[in-house]
Amino acid sequence: MADYGFDTLAIHAGAQPDPATGARATPIYQTTSFVFEDADHAAALFNLQVFGNIYSRIMNPTNAVLEERVAALEGGRSGLAVASGHAAQLIALHTLMQPGAEIVAARQLYGGSINQFSQGFAKFDWHVKWADGRDPESFRGALSDKTRAVFIESIANPGGIVTDIEAIAAIAHSAGVPLIVDSTFATPYLIRPIEWGADIVVHSATKFLGGHGNSICGVIVDSGKFNWGGGKFPSLSEPCPSYHGMRLWETFGDLAYAIACRVLGLRDLGPALSPMNAFLVIQGIETLPLRMQRHCDNALAVAHWLKRHPKVAWVNYAGLEDDACYGLHRTYCPKGAGSVFTFGLTGGYDAGVKLVNSVTLFSHLANVGDVRSLIIHPASTTHRQLEPEQRALAGAGDDVVRLSIGLETVDDIIADLDQALAA
Ligand SMILES: *Cc1c(COP(=O)(O)O)cnc(C)c1O
Repeated sequence: MADYGFDTLAIHAGAQPDPATGARATPIYQTTSFVFEDADHAAALFNLQVFGNIYSRIMNPTNAVLEERVAALEGGRSGLAVASGHAAQLIALHTLMQPGAEIVAARQLYGGSINQFSQGFAKFDWHVKWADGRDPESFRGALSDKTRAVFIESIANPGGIVTDIEAIAAIAHSAGVPLIVDSTFATPYLIRPIEWGADIVVHSATKFLGGHGNSICGVIVDSGKFNWGGGKFPSLSEPCPSYHGMRLWETFGDLAYAIACRVLGLRDLGPALSPMNAFLVIQGIETLPLRMQRHCDNALAVAHWLKRHPKVAWVNYAGLEDDACYGLHRTYCPKGAGSVFTFGLTGGYDAGVKLVNSVTLFSHLANVGDVRSLIIHPASTTHRQLEPEQRALAGAGDDVVRLSIGLETVDDIIADLDQALAA
């Protein structure tokens, strides 16, 4: 499989005709549990001596196809599918963190991730040091001996920033910690973070991977390359009490991290993905390369048009030649700068509210990466819970409007913005 091109992997990786029925599409194995061959087989499964299906909270054959497919597209060693993008972040970090430990994260994250990191994780006594996603050196300044992971987005929400993954990976590695990249906005079609030094990739497959706005889903992909020795990551290097003192890294090598996420994180925290949603996301991924290219082409056309509009103060889209991130876009994602970007209205907060009330083809909602074009005014919605200063730092000031450009005829997308801006 590994030798096939990206478009072939998007359709075939991880899947075979169903061995029981010959079904060509991946069946939805809608079952909670799986029958053991005999008592010895059951014991071996529970001891992690053989891999196999026990219970769908931990592993399911439909979900396994999705895991292998996304891992193949990212060029990773192994994957784990979970119930949401936030669950992927939780489990990816749960494997690495202990009470008192710190994450160094880019300040320019999805608004929900800022809440999860600063509030939800604080209840586990995990703490965040924020750095500037546009300034790799700021990550070095935020590292301490308590740091267990560095976390960034490859294309950051909502400011449309392309992050210098290679530079930040080098800084994380200098401190002996892995770089986790949320690559939801890029998808492996645009950027494969592992090729730039990332150790772990997480996705909200809810967005472009699924692509059709019908399923919440998250995926974790491990590169299999990080060295878990040295005592910072006891879940991986030290004897594991729930598996008879087995040391996961020593036993499973480059599969250890993904196994730990599954048999410790997912087992104990429980955000399992429904096989139905795995099926829908698999279906979406089959057309990912076609969809992502059209998303990017439409977004570039809309960004150029907005740039010339008198009511538009600025447009932040890395695909525009005068954008601060244009150079990083040419390096990291030359096929396109994604389909999510922000622009500023000369009329500020009120003009933003008026615009979202006046569109007709665009849907006003809190999602991105749908076939449909979407619009939101972050200051009055997704970033409402943040302090005004935090909002501005996250690229969600009062005048900011965020678009997620869909796959409609581009002239229709522009015509809708044109009439709504005139209103
Ligand atoms: C949506 C999103 C998430 C959270 O994913 P869910 O599937 O909604 O839990 C995380 N990161 C980014 C960049 C997102 O867009």
